[in-house]
Amino acid sequence: MSRCDVAVVGAGPYGLSAAAHLRTIKGLEVRVFGEPMSFWSCNMPVGMFLRSNWTATQIACPHGDLTLEAFQAERFRTFGVPVPIEHFIEYGLWYQSHAVPDLDQRRIERIERGANDFRLSTRDGETFESRRVVIAGGIGPFARRPQEFKALPAALVSHTNEHQGFARFAGKRVLVVGSGQSALESAALLHESGAEVEVVGRSLRIHWLQGWASTTLHHRLGKFTRKLLYAPTDVGPAGISQLLARPHLVKLLPRTVQDKLRRRAVRPAGARWLVNRLQDVPITLNCSVVSVAPTGGCVRVKLSNGKETTVDHILLGTGFHIDISKYDFVASNLMQQINRVNGFPILKDGLETSVPGLHILGAPGVYCFGPLLQFVSGTHFASRSLLRRLSQ
Ligand SMILES: Cc1cc2nc3c(=O)[nH]c(=O)nc-3n(C[C@H](O)[C@H](O)[C@H](O)COP(=O)(O)OP(=O)(O)OC[C@H]3O[C@@H](n4cnc5c(N)ncnc54)[C@H](O)[C@@H]3O)c2cc1C
Repeated sequence: MSRCDVAVVGAGPYGLSAAAHLRTIKGLEVRVFGEPMSFWSCNMPVGMFLRSNWTATQIACPHGDLTLEAFQAERFRTFGVPVPIEHFIEYGLWYQSHAVPDLDQRRIERIERGANDFRLSTRDGETFESRRVVIAGGIGPFARRPQEFKALPAALVSHTNEHQGFARFAGKRVLVVGSGQSALESAALLHESGAEVEVVGRSLRIHWLQGWASTTLHHRLGKFTRKLLYAPTDVGPAGISQLLARPHLVKLLPRTVQDKLRRRAVRPAGARWLVNRLQDVPITLNCSVVSVAPTGGCVRVKLSNGKETTVDHILLGTGFHIDISKYDFVASNLMQQINRVNGFPILKDGLETSVPGLHILGAPGVYCFGPLLQFVSGTHFASRSLLRRLSQ
């Protein structure tokens, strides 16, 4: 049976960045698996823009050379913020072609614990052993579907992460549930595709994120103050942003404070550049869906404000609920050995789980290291922390 030192499972921003960093360790044999940037190309809609700013959209690389600027120069692309998704996907693929040209695009079907090492199997039946495994499997399996919609057939309800575009909804009535970025941006794209859209959300108001060009007080204070209040990682509000950019400090805070920070930093919010695009889309807030019932190819919806409506489709912009037991490629007896809290793994330095040699990067790390880990800008911390651990 073949063997390697490290197997990286996942080829999104976290997996690619981790692999690039690990390959700086001389003599370490690193194999990397997964379809590159597949979540971005298959589970997000064409026409989407990234919410994160320019610096926060850079995938961490060990030599500082695989930047958005270098990509633009090499591929003759001109774009700025907000970064269009198609350019970010292209940037990720370009990053992969430089840092991990030998990427193995096969899916890992199973990770088990062998006597000393981990045993991994690919979809087409190859089995090999690895001393360490780095899981960077993303949030795809964690899409949140509230109970009240579970009985509806797939034709009548879907999650935002099931769509690469909304053209098929032209002329249809679509109810978007949620008031975060994903729900609001999907509503804008549906509207622009010719659908009759309505948004319903539980929050009392929409939190519009401040862009750099905003005229709010923080942003009128000038570049220096802005830099003081906002870290380049672009996660969290003024001041708190600087703390969240330091996950090793976040980890030291009392649990209740960490939880509060996480809730505040990733509360549902929409990018400012959506405001105009949603001007003609009715948005009902402080309201939830009470019941749904299929009726003649449509769905009858009762809302908590007493209103009833019939739509052709419900689109759930209800976010993601992290629970690593949904990583179905991890054998159940191995999963049981990972110390977890509410679905999140307990991670040490190097984002190592309670199973020695098994690391989990990306969004599952938010419980221990804060919300930075669910954004591209968290790749800097994650990759360096992993590199330090494996260099010991
Ligand atoms: C609508 C939406 C908009 C977002 N916008 C932003 C934004 O503007 N800025 C930002 O920073 N973040 C944004 N995010 C968050 C974003 O998803 C994460 O920052 C980013 O994708 C995390 O990268 P990742 O590598 O952890 O996961 P992913 O990008 O999801 O990559 C996971 C990879 O793992 C692979 N994989 C999974 N299982 C296996 C397996 N068993 N074998 C082999 N490969 C496997 C997949 O094929 C994929 O390549 C957004 C998320 C959503 C849903």
